[in-house]
Amino acid sequence: MIPASSKARHSPPWQQELAAAIRDPAELLRRVGLEDSPLASQINPDAGFRTLVPAGYLRRMRLGDPADPLLLQVLALEQEGLETPGYVTDPVGDLEALTHPGLLQKYAGRALLIPTEACAVHCRYCFRRHFPYAEAGASRSEWTRISARLRRDATLREVILSGGDPLMLSDRQLRELLRELETVPQLRRLRIHTRLPIVLPSRIEPSLVDLLAGLPWTCTVVVHSNHAREIDEQVTAALSALRAGGLHVLNQSVLLKDINDSVDALCDLSETLLAAGALPYYLHQLDPVRGAAHFAVSEERARDLLLEVRKRLPGYLVPRLVKELPGTSSKMPLA
Ligand SMILES: *Cc1c(COP(=O)(O)O)cnc(C)c1O
Ligand code: SF4
Repeated sequence: MIPASSKARHSPPWQQELAAAIRDPAELLRRVGLEDSPLASQINPDAGFRTLVPAGYLRRMRLGDPADPLLLQVLALEQEGLETPGYVTDPVGDLEALTHPGLLQKYAGRALLIPTEACAVHCRYCFRRHFPYAEAGASRSEWTRISARLRRDATLREVILSGGDPLMLSDRQLRELLRELETVPQLRRLRIHTRLPIVLPSRIEPSLVDLLAGLPWTCTVVVHSNHAREIDEQVTAALSALRAGGLHVLNQSVLLKDINDSVDALCDLSETLLAAGALPYYLHQLDPVRGAAHFAVSEERARDLLLEVRKRLPGYLVPRLVKELPGTSSKMPLA
């Protein structure tokens, strides 16, 4: 997960915005007016997983609020260094599901491709925070071999671009990858798992929407938002642009302690997503990745929360609460 390094003067605005992202937890605290708060003594500047926060995301945080749900998702704390039994570097068995570098095949008819290690934000609870992208990611040189492999899988119906964040690829790189996938005749659906429309909405440029709108498959963009306050006017505009391009837009979230583990927060998120043009898809139980134990919510509490959400909202606004167990044939429903 290395941020795009392109700082060229002629790079698109989203890449320039990324080049100016905050990369130091102390700086992050200064920018939200918390340099003198107790949090300042709890940060972990040496976390193996670097700090990365685009300024546009930071602007949605509340100044002076140490409990801000956006800040807590991206602030590297000393607790990340604690060893917790059961919290491991590969919590969902990604490495044993690799059928080729960068290609994960766990579920029938679907193949998940990891074409980049880069993200626009580093979420501290990320289940791939220790993923060995250098050896296990799909670099450009592998794409041709991957499409050849996919052509041989007659059961394949859907490719999921994930990461890292696939929209960190430039339009040119993305076009090349999609051209490769167009050589797979049995493919019917494309899915893009991305947090960029939420954390760096300027990425959703007309050129990108045109590229995606012109594809021969049913295309779905699954964004990743965990809190209603992440969704502002710019994010709403980005999601509208995707929908105007004929793409379905869904959202997946992670259930996170002190961030969205309340009935109000979950209901607000679903309603805000709908108003912005996205439907809730999954609410994931935290994957037990090393360094993220302080975000855990128990399964019992997760189920209770979902029961309450279901009492308040129409069915289509209730996300499916799921957990991923290594070696199983689908995400496991919990409620
Ligand atoms: C989560 C996941 C998918 C997608 O699962 P859906 O239930 O179809 O959303 C596909 N492949 C892998 C490897 C996954 O981890
Ligand atoms: S959760 Fe998604 S956006 Fe966040 S660091 Fe992980 S892969 Fe990147």
